[in-house]
Order: sequence, then structure tokens, then C-alpha cells
Amino acid sequence: MKKLIFATGNEGKMKEIRMILGDLDYEILSMKEAGIDVDIVEDGKTFEENAIIKATEISKIAGCIVLADDSGLEVDAMDKMPGIYSARYLGEDTPYSIKNQTIIDNLAGLPDEKRTARFVCAIAAAFPDGSVVTKRGTIEGIIGYEERGENGFGYDPIFFVPEYGKTTAELSPEEKNAISHRGKALEMIKEVL
Ligand code: IMP
Repeated sequence: MKKLIFATGNEGKMKEIRMILGDLDYEILSMKEAGIDVDIVEDGKTFEENAIIKATEISKIAGCIVLADDSGLEVDAMDKMPGIYSARYLGEDTPYSIKNQTIIDNLAGLPDEKRTARFVCAIAAAFPDGSVVTKRGTIEGIIGYEERGENGFGYDPIFFVPEYGKTTAELSPEEKNAISHRGKALEMIKEVL
């Protein structure tokens, strides 16, 4: 079976990837399973650039197809911040309760129509011949007025999806995967593979 590496150290993402790409004719490996341990500087200016940097660097080392993703939250009233800086926003080790409350405070007094935001996920697939393809998935929502829900991670408790009347932290993992930025980008990459 052909090998495919997903360049992440995040177990939650690996689970999701195995669920979505499981029926393809590939053996899907995490970086750890592939025995690759490198630190790559993500100095791109867009989600796509960062995903391409990760996927191509590791494909060069591994010699097989490598997928990598880069994702984040864009808040329109904050000039699309934190964007590609989502993980690093206010400091890598700052608890999300503080990051989330800061965003709520930044939007104080703004009505729903000015609280628009989206999760973005770019996935790059780098092939051994040096070619690379990227796909982008998004989910639109609005920033809530307080944290709600215990599921998910990161900014999920403040990301309210009007169609569901819930934050992504109140959706089950299956419900979230079906509509999420990462789920959509993975489905598009699946077509390419
Ligand atoms: P990365 O793609 O692993 O670098 O993650 C980027 C950051 O974006 C995460 O650390 C979270 O802060 C945020 N983020 C990306 N996707 C989600 C999501 O589905 N829910 C909540 N936060 C997310």
C-alpha cells in the first residue's frame, strides 16, 4: 500500500483525517509513526503558504505524499485577526479562556451583523515529484457574547453557528466534522488524491 503522511503532532486532527481518508488506498501515518521529528518554521503570510512550507519540507525528507494543514480564526471586526497567528495570539501558552474573553471584549457593543467571523483551513498535498496542490475550507459564524460548550478546542466556545443555534463547542465531534473548515478542506483534498 502507498504511504501518506499527515504532518501534524495533533492526535485529534489525526483521528479526523483517518475518519475522512480511511477508505482511500493509502496507509496513513502521523509524523511520529513515520519516524520524522523536525521543527519547521512557519513563516508564510497566508494559510496556504504555511501549509505548503510544511508539506513540501517533509515530503522532501520522507519521499512520499505528505499532507499538511494550517488553520485559524478570522474576526472581521478585528481586521481578520488572529488569522494565521491564531495559535500564537496573546502568546502560545496563554489559556484560551483569556484569548476568547479578549476577543469578546474587543467586540463589546457590536451587534450580531458586525460580529462575523470564520474558521479557515488550508491543506497542502505535496507529491514526491515536487508538485503541490492546496485546498481551502471555511465555516462562517459570529462571535458570541460569552463562552459556551465544552467540546472541541481553541476558539470553539465563542464561535456561534447561526444555522445550528450553537457554538462549535456545543456540537458533537461528528456534527462539527461534517460542517467544519477542516472537514471541507479534507474532502476536497480527497478528490485530488
Ligand atoms: P494550527 O492549524 O494547528 O496551527 O492551529 C491554528 C489555531 O487556530 C489553533 O491553535 C486554534 O487556536 C485555531 N483553530 C483552528 N481550527 C480550530 C477549530 O476548529 N476550533 C477552534 N479553534 C481552531
